[in-house]
Amino acid sequence: MGKTRKFVVLLTVAALALSMFAVAGCEKKEDTDGTDTNGEATFTTIEAGKLLVGSDTEFPPFEFVDADGVVKGFDVDIMNAIGEKLGLEVTFMTEIFDTLIPTLKAGGKFDVIASGMTIKPERALEIDFTAPYYDSNQSLVMAKGTAYTGPEQLAGKKIGVQSGTTGEAWAKENAPDAELVPFGSATDAFAALQAGNVDAVVNDLPVSAELLKEDDRGLEIVAQIPTGEQYGFAVSKDNPELLAAIDEALADIKADGTYNDIYQKWFGILPE
Ligand code: GLN
Repeated sequence: MGKTRKFVVLLTVAALALSMFAVAGCEKKEDTDGTDTNGEATFTTIEAGKLLVGSDTEFPPFEFVDADGVVKGFDVDIMNAIGEKLGLEVTFMTEIFDTLIPTLKAGGKFDVIASGMTIKPERALEIDFTAPYYDSNQSLVMAKGTAYTGPEQLAGKKIGVQSGTTGEAWAKENAPDAELVPFGSATDAFAALQAGNVDAVVNDLPVSAELLKEDDRGLEIVAQIPTGEQYGFAVSKDNPELLAAIDEALADIKADGTYNDIYQKWFGILPE
């Protein structure tokens, strides 16, 4: 009899302990969620429930407009995955690359830049970057068969560049005796090269590779330029909460395999 009672008491204690544990567990989860990505919003966007994205959408495979007018690409899929984590509907808005930073700073038009934008210290004085999401380099594109020996060969030549880009900065620094011809987009610079209006184009390597992938445009990448750039998304310095939320969502999609799936979809390989 005494034994049975002891057993019942023990069981009750165990049940109590278990239920307390369960309650504690629940509370802990609620706490985490409340200050986390899927709890109450801890950040603000221009339009509630939406994430407006500024992008120069002529930069395949990162962002481009397909035949049906739909913006697609690596950056688009990554932003959509981030939007899903944050419970926000993502809309891409096309802008000239050069105007992205001033427009973001001015506020009111879009919340974030996703545009194959290289993280640079001078840009980071004006806007805040997320953690890096893609490693990139530059490339030099010239007529097929050009024997390229080095930047001194570009002296007196016309180099097409996209205004305000790291490709333009490379050309200014490394080919000071060349004539730089600025374009609004990478695709316009390539069209000018194909038409013979410029002699060379300096542009981000993965984009040059993509633009030369399909049709035979009589052009080729004559040099890969290892600048070791990293792309980041950018948010206004007035919205550090949104930056933190995007960074957290980016870390989440890297951890859960979504990022790798998207990378593989667009580049055919996994990131290093
Ligand atoms: N990565 C380059 C830069 O940030 C080019 C970006 C672009 O043209 N979209 O300057």
